[in-house]
Amino acid sequence: MISFGPVPSRRLGKSLGVNNITANKICSYSCVYCQVGLTHKFSAERQEFYSPDVIYKEVQAHLSKLTSDEQPDYLTFVANGEPTLDIRLGESISRLKEFQIPVAVITNASMLSDVQVRESLCLADWVSVKIDAGDELHWKKINRPFKQITFQNYLSGLKQFSTEFTGKLVTETMLVKDVNDKVEDLENTVKLVNMVMPSVAYISIPTRPPAVKTVLAADNEIINYAYQLFTENGLKTELILGFEGTDTGFTGNAAEDIINMCSVHPIREDTMQEILRKDNADNTLLDTLVFNNYILKLNYNSKNFYLRNFRR
Ligand code: SF4
Repeated sequence: MISFGPVPSRRLGKSLGVNNITANKICSYSCVYCQVGLTHKFSAERQEFYSPDVIYKEVQAHLSKLTSDEQPDYLTFVANGEPTLDIRLGESISRLKEFQIPVAVITNASMLSDVQVRESLCLADWVSVKIDAGDELHWKKINRPFKQITFQNYLSGLKQFSTEFTGKLVTETMLVKDVNDKVEDLENTVKLVNMVMPSVAYISIPTRPPAVKTVLAADNEIINYAYQLFTENGLKTELILGFEGTDTGFTGNAAEDIINMCSVHPIREDTMQEILRKDNADNTLLDTLVFNNYILKLNYNSKNFYLRNFRR
């Protein structure tokens, strides 16, 4: 199946997935946390998979079955592997844009030193690039790239693409316990993310069964630290911790509002008090949410923050 969904996505609203890589997973990485499993077919060679016409017709048929309420906000290339390995990706993006729906691509960014890959991605409206590490050692440790891909090429491709792309560029950083979560690792990562100047830097953790069974999500304190570090470096940062917080403000249901907001970013104590006041609630509700492990109270730089408890 080429198209699937739409699935709800905090980043993209209603997103209709487009899998442009046929059959088994083909990727230039074998990330330790990959939810598709280990990479058995490594590649850094672009090749033809589906023709753009086949992709177009499948998406067209899919869209025609959806009600007007179900129509997607984005058509998103999120492949069974790395979507930029598809040599006809650019043509497929152009065809899909005929539906007048914005097109998104989620890429591992390993192929960006190839000018044709960059040209293809520049046709999209929204691109997410993976930045899990800012130094070669940790990049190899977490992403386990195909031998033909060098860290230097990855860096230069990222830099070049960030200057050429005029759509919305975001980054995604996965935090894995004891792999890329030390303070100095995060300092290197934030430098690289900053070089790309994303609209939003997303921080996530593995929440589905990973390719390497021993992989664990980074600790809550580290997630909070990473968020603060990214923010202090001027990055608009959001968390994706396995549930889709909405960050939409006040719905009248104070408990739901607090949980939603804490899912997107840690909330500082003074801001939390403001939220409680606006929602006509008080510290009893806050204490109950902490006591029942919906949210955690963490200290950073002598200030209290509240964060959604992803382990609950
Ligand atoms: S880049 Fe994506 S598909 Fe490829 S191994 Fe990593 S997580 Fe899996």
